[in-house]
Amino acid sequence: MTQPMNARCLCGAVTFTATPKAMEMGVCHCGMCRRWSGGVFMAVDCSGSVRFAEGAPIGSYKGSAWGERIFCRECGANLVWQTQNGEHQSVALQAFDDPSAFKFTSQIFIDRKPESYAFANETAMMTEAEVFAMFMGEEGQ
Ligand SMILES: [Zn+2]
Ligand SMILES: [Zn+2]
Repeated sequence: MTQPMNARCLCGAVTFTATPKAMEMGVCHCGMCRRWSGGVFMAVDCSGSVRFAEGAPIGSYKGSAWGERIFCRECGANLVWQTQNGEHQSVALQAFDDPSAFKFTSQIFIDRKPESYAFANETAMMTEAEVFAMFMGEEGQ
């Protein structure tokens, strides 16, 4: 278990704390994350620990039946992807003060990645089908 870490949006109107499950970062190559982030969504699993500052101007977009995307209403920075039941929370890597503190360990929806680029890092990789199979498995437990 790590300590709560400070994070914020681009303009600073939204500040929050989040406790990473591990000092690890993963990338999602799915089409929704790519359109939302304008690149790829680089995220840290901080499930159950995100605490926004009082009065933080956050907006929320429910992009699917189970997912919800939290952003700053002032500057538009993408901050958190979470399940609508709040059980899973992935915090944007770049919201933390020191992104280099996290090791790049996984890439999901790798079969959705455009052919025109690829990360050189050696990481675990999961296809869309493998990701859904994993989440179904968790729900069955
Ligand atoms: Zn902002
Ligand atoms: Zn995604």
